Amino acid sequence: MPSAKIFYDSDADLSLLEGKTIVFLGFGNQGAAQAQNLRDTGIPNDKILIANRPDSYADDAKSKGFIVENDIAKAASVADVIFLLIPDQVQPRVFNDVVQSTLKDTATIVVASGYNVFFKLLQFKPTQDVVMVAPRMIGSSVRSLFVKGQGFPCFASAEQNGTGKALEIAVALSRAIGATKAGAIASSAYEETAMDLFAEQALWPNIITLFREGFSVLKEAGCSDEALCYEMWMSKEPAEIFERAAEDGFIAQLKYHSVVSQYGQLSGALALDGVAVREHFKNILHNQVLNGKFCKEFSKIEADLEKDGYDNPLNELYRKTEETELVQAEKRVRARLADLIKSGQQ
Ligand code: NDP
Repeated sequence: MPSAKIFYDSDADLSLLEGKTIVFLGFGNQGAAQAQNLRDTGIPNDKILIANRPDSYADDAKSKGFIVENDIAKAASVADVIFLLIPDQVQPRVFNDVVQSTLKDTATIVVASGYNVFFKLLQFKPTQDVVMVAPRMIGSSVRSLFVKGQGFPCFASAEQNGTGKALEIAVALSRAIGATKAGAIASSAYEETAMDLFAEQALWPNIITLFREGFSVLKEAGCSDEALCYEMWMSKEPAEIFERAAEDGFIAQLKYHSVVSQYGQLSGALALDGVAVREHFKNILHNQVLNGKFCKEFSKIEADLEKDGYDNPLNELYRKTEETELVQAEKRVRARLADLIKSGQQ
């Protein structure tokens, strides 16, 4: 595979955005951060419109000086560019039923995640541009790094080139939200979705399982709940390791550990051949993620995610997970800590 192209500030032509009305659908995690960054880059406030139902998100946008339109279809009708920054699971419903009917034939639609584009859940007109500008950070970091004058990692791509300028517009928008300062990586909805869902459905479930089973084995061997919780995550050691891995290198960070630890980690990892894990990972990637199986199943339960109690399948998953030894033990440890803090304050 060739190396990915990286777009920097100098690759972006902000004049492509001149005179365009830019609508942000959603003022949540990403919406609030990206709209503020875009305005601070110099896009005039009267060219930015926040589309949001009348609630605390709309109030937040107003308090930050933005023009807010509560009627989403009306907001979409004036958009030259529309950022879809509402949760992925509601995008098909809102975009296909409300937004698309009034959207211009030459509008640019911006997604911050490849999911709905890769699985073809959004109905675009062939004359429209569809671009992905997908920060690899939570919204608060997208904003705070911009304020500090730094960039943040981001993927950019043109997914549909209706106007012939889709990629140039994607790069200009990446710069406008502050992403090209550190370099926006040329990617695709396919790549973003494959990596994101793989991490969520293969990598992290295995990491959760390793911690859960490791906890039980050490508990069986006589270790206390308190010692285990601190040893395994509450000390923040794993967070620090990943911080170092990002700064110094995935393996290079080992130099901060004792020699006993370095020897144990490297020899232990080399002794595991990983064949079974690799086969399991391939199976998840090809037979659950890329073939659309997960997407199809998730679409079926999407509406239930707004229900209360255990009729909501996500709540049911939390309930089952809470039964595990690790979660029960952590609850006891945290309750004890809270009691200790309370008694210390009296
Ligand atoms: P949020 O959960 O923060 O979105 C909240 C916003 O969506 C609010 O403005 C809310 O307003 C609006 N919203 C929710 N439901 C509806 C609805 N049914 N109709 C209209 N508006 C609705 O989303 P995120 O910012 O987390 O995610 C937005 C996009 O960014 C997604 O594609 C996500 O994958 C992507 N992304 C997210 C990252 C993150 O860190 N969270 C990182 C990188 C990309 P109201 O409820 O008032 O309607």
